[in-house]
Amino acid sequence: MKTAEKNTTAAKAKTTGAKTKAAPSKSKTASKTSATGVVKAKTSAADGLRELFVDSLKDIYWAEKALVKALPKMAKNATSENLVKAINDHLTVTQEQAARLEKVFSLIGEKAVAKKCDAMDGLIKEGQGIMEETEKGPVRDAGIIAASQKIEHYEIATYGTLAAFATTLGEDDAVLLLEKTLAEEKEADSLLTEAAYNTINFDAAEEDNE
Ligand code: FE
Ligand code: FE
Ligand code: ZN
Ligand code: FE
Repeated sequence: MKTAEKNTTAAKAKTTGAKTKAAPSKSKTASKTSATGVVKAKTSAADGLRELFVDSLKDIYWAEKALVKALPKMAKNATSENLVKAINDHLTVTQEQAARLEKVFSLIGEKAVAKKCDAMDGLIKEGQGIMEETEKGPVRDAGIIAASQKIEHYEIATYGTLAAFATTLGEDDAVLLLEKTLAEEKEADSLLTEAAYNTINFDAAEEDNE
């Protein structure tokens, strides 16, 4: 008997705990709802996703702008012609991507605002650290490629998610623009491996040092 009672109390406590945890995400919409609970839940999720979508756009907008500043420094540190070209080409593309994001903001009726992306800030800093810690030549080139690929992969993940969010939200024109950028980021990623990394001549550097 006592055990059963205890269990019931525990179960009740658990339920209350879960409710309290879920509350913050729902609280915003709770005030602006109607009689039916179903409508309430739907509105809440859609509003929340839209807010997350806009916030993520601001984040990647900051990231693209930060990259416009960071890429020239990486190109300047690179030795391989292919790598310098890959970085400079991607700089032009990155400038277009920032402008494309401004178009996305306007399509969804939002102001283009940049909000600091801690992840990109960290990835760029990591790249700077690698450049400082390596000697100019094939090894620094390899380090620059490693840092760039982490950046591209972050962007691929971000644009993939943004395109999925836009699809769910019915922002079809935005989806097309986000998918265009996604394709460019994937191309940059493969250019860095194929055209840049595979053409670094580590043997030649060894001979030079002897
Ligand atoms: Fe980009
Ligand atoms: Fe971010
Ligand atoms: Zn990228
Ligand atoms: Fe990029």
